[in-house]
Amino acid sequence: MAKYKLEYIWLDGYTPVPNLRGKTRIASEAPKSLEDCPMWGFDGSSTKQAEGKSSDCMLKPVALYPDGARENGFLVMCEVMMPDGETPHPSNHRATIEDDPDTWFGLEQEYFLFKNRRPLGWPSDFGFPSPQGEYYTGVGYANVGNIARQIVEEHLNLCLHAGINHEGINAEVAKGQWEFQIFAKGSYSCADDMWMARYILMRLCEKYEVDVEWHCKPFLGDWNGSGMHCNFSTKYMREVGGEAYFRKLMDAFEKFKDEHIAAYGPENELRLTGFHETQSIDKFSWGVGDRGASIRVPHSFIKNGYKGYLEDRRPNSQGDPYQICSRILRTVNTVPTE
Ligand code: ADP
Ligand code: MN
Ligand code: MN
Ligand code: MN
Repeated sequence: MAKYKLEYIWLDGYTPVPNLRGKTRIASEAPKSLEDCPMWGFDGSSTKQAEGKSSDCMLKPVALYPDGARENGFLVMCEVMMPDGETPHPSNHRATIEDDPDTWFGLEQEYFLFKNRRPLGWPSDFGFPSPQGEYYTGVGYANVGNIARQIVEEHLNLCLHAGINHEGINAEVAKGQWEFQIFAKGSYSCADDMWMARYILMRLCEKYEVDVEWHCKPFLGDWNGSGMHCNFSTKYMREVGGEAYFRKLMDAFEKFKDEHIAAYGPENELRLTGFHETQSIDKFSWGVGDRGASIRVPHSFIKNGYKGYLEDRRPNSQGDPYQICSRILRTVNTVPTE
């Protein structure tokens, strides 16, 4: 009789960036939905989530995915709960997101693939490849190497198999840098899918002896950093909107500028410099089609009477999508709608 492998995945208590953790639970029947995935426990004293004396933490399944890399496998995204099973653990930022099925998020994850502490395709040990220019959306061994594309393609297939709503992938501006985009409706799903896509990528890279470098600025100098632009819209923004509401929204984003930066990933001052298509970290600005602004307003937004989605360009590649989506929705919800 077939047995099923359920990989329970959660975020640990490390700061400023949590690590992904996972362990396998064997089941006799394939889970058809989340209801078929019971809560489970783990030793929180090994993940900076508990003291040794009272080390139990609970895993509460929140999203279920087929696992294309494992026979009879499933991936189960979990929230970490206190031993009572009901109180969210302090490290559980997903629990801070306001539930709103009509909020939509699109996240654009940039990252580097590293081998022996150097980006794939860079000269080994020292030195730099040719300057940036032809790598972005490039083709050919000189631009993208060989193993990189293989990994990126396998990752895409595994994510699509899992039902993650990838919208696209592309080679990025620096050599060895890549991007994928995920879109989802509902205030939790895009962030759940992003953490799962990160897990799938890191696990896939193990067999290639490659690491994913999530840091937002692995190299100083004239090399693009890595961001995770967050595109967002609420039902009100899509269906009512208007210039007056938009201006109030931008005032709120300006007011909570520091709270946003605090949620947008570590060492972002290295990346948000005002160069390389970024606004500097201590300024807030918005602009139509402006890639040097904190928030880019798509041309379509203005054309449709200030309705649609906005792009916050500040979140970085290492940021926690739960904290990012939570902060954005919180700020949006401070603005009254008529
Ligand atoms: P960029 O030029 O910044 O790379 P893209 O068009 O690649 O822009 O990405 C924009 C993203 O915006 C899309 O991938 C999608 O996920 C997201 N998006 C599109 N429409 C909406 C919407 N109504 N609400 C939220 N996000 C959206
Ligand atoms: Mn993009
Ligand atoms: Mn990009
Ligand atoms: Mn973008």
